[in-house]
Amino acid sequence: MRCSSEYDVAIIGGGPAGAAAGTQLAKAGLKPVILEKEKFPRFCIGESLLPFGNILLKQLGVWNQMEDAGFLRKYGAEFCTGDKSRLRRFWFGQTLGASCEYSYQVERSKFDELLLNNARAHGCEVHEETRVSAIENIDTKKMHLHCETPQGALSIHADWIIDASGRNAFTGKKLGLRRNITQKKRRIAIYGHFEGVFRNSGKAEGHITIARISDAWFWLIPLSGNKTSIGLVVPADQMSKPNSRTLDDVFQEAVDSTPEVKDRMKGASMLGSLRATGDYSWKFSSFATRRVVLAGDAAGFIDPIFSSGVMLALQSSMRAAELIIRAEKSNRQLSRFERFQYTRQVMGWMRQYSRLIAPFYEKAGFEVFMNPASLLQIPSSIARLVGGQTEPTFIDSLRIEAFRTICRLQRFVPIAPAIPSLR
Ligand SMILES: Cc1cc2nc3c(=O)[nH]c(=O)nc-3n(C[C@H](O)[C@H](O)[C@H](O)COP(=O)(O)OP(=O)(O)OC[C@H]3O[C@@H](n4cnc5c(N)ncnc54)[C@H](O)[C@@H]3O)c2cc1C
Repeated sequence: MRCSSEYDVAIIGGGPAGAAAGTQLAKAGLKPVILEKEKFPRFCIGESLLPFGNILLKQLGVWNQMEDAGFLRKYGAEFCTGDKSRLRRFWFGQTLGASCEYSYQVERSKFDELLLNNARAHGCEVHEETRVSAIENIDTKKMHLHCETPQGALSIHADWIIDASGRNAFTGKKLGLRRNITQKKRRIAIYGHFEGVFRNSGKAEGHITIARISDAWFWLIPLSGNKTSIGLVVPADQMSKPNSRTLDDVFQEAVDSTPEVKDRMKGASMLGSLRATGDYSWKFSSFATRRVVLAGDAAGFIDPIFSSGVMLALQSSMRAAELIIRAEKSNRQLSRFERFQYTRQVMGWMRQYSRLIAPFYEKAGFEVFMNPASLLQIPSSIARLVGGQTEPTFIDSLRIEAFRTICRLQRFVPIAPAIPSLR
């Protein structure tokens, strides 16, 4: 491993997007460096993976380690109403084939460290506890990154930057890119780890449970051992009411009024304390400039209801690495067309999820979602998307559009049975 301050590519952030990009660039013979402000392992939310992501993990050469890491297998997902009146279970194997029969529920501290070590093993230099604080000559061939480390300042020169800084969106802000808010209502997630939460039996033990309540939802993600991640996603204004309730108040009140979650949590105890994060669903207007490419959450963030974040982070950063490898080989910057195409492709992947997220938050849409009729094979198209298929076939795309139309009709004509407990 070379230890100089001159690199082909500086990658800001060592989460899934940064680690995947570093791996691919090093494999191609370039000299990348990952600059990560934290010391790994570090806590991160986003623990439920999608089976289409398996293909990417295999390409990164980390799949065998995933299989041996002791993570809990996830064979599907279940959606239910908080009042226990409806339950819909997806089994990936039924629609996605044997190679995508399952994915994993992961503690991100362990998963992210595994990916970062994989980047190291492929020859990518990694600096932890190294925060990028400023960039000079941004978007030129002689970019100069100023970093802060416990040992003092560090200077990095690079021809390219991949911004994988997550929702910090470091370069997007520096470049002054326009930020589009894609979900009108601001939401906040309150979450923690618990022990002793009820689990499904058999192969459904690893299913993620999404419990929809009026204007909000819970996730329950079983992790290995006896640990379960539980989160509540509520409109942000619930935290700013005049009597300013604490995170614990809001969380506990929601649990107490949601039989599905309350019953599963009987006898459970919290490990540590609750955390919260907000600011949902936005994206920059462009994801690439001549020498800076934005990947993962640094490009945009979509509501986590369908657990798509990690897969999109891997997919976009591996694509970003491909672009840079190609341009570097012919000693040129990214063309206007390549920048446009990258942005369009990644936005297209994100849009597939946005098409399902909107109906999920509407009463009428959720009623249709929870009552799948085999009509036009819409459920299998939805299942493929829920499994992570970001580039649906033309037919799948048409079926999702048909589903959205039925959801709109449901507002006026009762096609699916009503769910009175929802607003
Ligand atoms: C409430 C919630 C629930 C979610 N649930 C899921 C889920 O179930 N499944 C799923 O797939 N996704 C989920 N997500 C999304 C998922 O967490 C993200 O999409 C994923 O972590 C994105 O990976 P990333 O590498 O782009 O960014 P991150 O994982 O955020 O990594 C970014 C890294 O950059 C580092 N960094 C930031 N700024 C700097 C700097 N200036 N200098 C150096 N380093 C820096 C950070 O320390 C961090 O390690 C959820 C998200 C939220 C908010």
